[in-house]
Amino acid sequence: MNSEVILPGAKLGVLGGGQLGRMFAMAAQKMGYIVHGFTPETDSPLSQVCTKTIVAPFEDQERLKAFADSVDLVTIEFENIPVASLALIESRTRVRPGPRVLDITQHRLREKTFLDNNGFPIVPFKEVNSSQELSAAIALIGVPSVLKTAGFGYDGKGQRKISANADAGAAFEALGKTQCILERFVEFEKEVSVIGARSEDGRFISYGPIENQHSNHILDVSLVLARLARGQAQEAVEITRTIMECLEMTGLLCVEFFVVDDRTLLVNELAPRPHNSGHYSIEGCSTSQFEQHVRAVAGLPFGDTEPLGSVAMANLLGDLWQQGEPDWAGALASPAVHLHLYGKQQPRPGRKMGHLTALAADAETAERTVRAARAALVDRR
Ligand code: AMP
Repeated sequence: MNSEVILPGAKLGVLGGGQLGRMFAMAAQKMGYIVHGFTPETDSPLSQVCTKTIVAPFEDQERLKAFADSVDLVTIEFENIPVASLALIESRTRVRPGPRVLDITQHRLREKTFLDNNGFPIVPFKEVNSSQELSAAIALIGVPSVLKTAGFGYDGKGQRKISANADAGAAFEALGKTQCILERFVEFEKEVSVIGARSEDGRFISYGPIENQHSNHILDVSLVLARLARGQAQEAVEITRTIMECLEMTGLLCVEFFVVDDRTLLVNELAPRPHNSGHYSIEGCSTSQFEQHVRAVAGLPFGDTEPLGSVAMANLLGDLWQQGEPDWAGALASPAVHLHLYGKQQPRPGRKMGHLTALAADAETAERTVRAARAALVDRR
């Protein structure tokens, strides 16, 4: 099947105004596209760099129609957008990825059910709609386990660990007694991700596996490439390719995995967009994940994804601003380090404000360099 190519000069619309949209826009503009944004947020990271932004709620039908009519194609940088809004846009212009992908990936229960029905390896889980169902699920899954809200969760938001049966009631209460899933708590060796890019005519390329270290459920440091047992990297890429085929999706998909041991990979979560763990690719690959996103949705040939060396990325959270402005020159003292800031005005604790990337000849040096650069931001105090 030959798919339609959206050539440079065309207008690309982005739903969501965060840093992923900002870096997508920068990559698209470099290639000669014009980018319009749609976000409820004023002065968003995306709006600071794109040509035009509509600031309105994702439910505003008239503004959504105006947005759809102003661009040649719409993509997303955030998955918690009402599916009906994406469907409305799809009735007026091209949308990649489409509403079905969003419907599945924005809801943990639908996502797990999709993965389970298609035979992908996942953590055992059970749907929970009431205290009685929670007791039954704990009897089946056991403790320790993790209770997660079915809808609208990211960075560990909307989840509680249940270490003993007695914790269950409080966990369900804390999550608002809403629809949840109960999942076995996995003693994993490490967490890795693969970011796949797929075109409408089924071409596929990938980044990673990337090794991800979390702190307080938020991505802290990513390393490329992940240190995995022989064959496991290929398995993670194949699972990613097959999930994208099952979803029949166009665009980017990040698949997060738990590596349990040398033989066992479990899919934890899907994100149908560029991913924080792929930020290393801006300096670390000849084609960044953002440029690849543009190429995937526009139907262009893919660029190379081989890492240019060992790469490490460290997130910069708002906590780093607690004692005042960080020491940017200190962080950049090593010429191997690159700084990205997303233009956010309020450095709240836990908020992703930017990231640092370091390239080196080996993984240990890359990780040490990026950690030292981040420490230098606050060292002088
Ligand atoms: P999530 O929002 O589901 O990706 O969860 C965020 C982080 O919480 C993951 O990256 C893991 O570090 C941890 N986590 C989530 N689910 C589990 C689980 N079933 N077992 C162990 N750790 C988990």
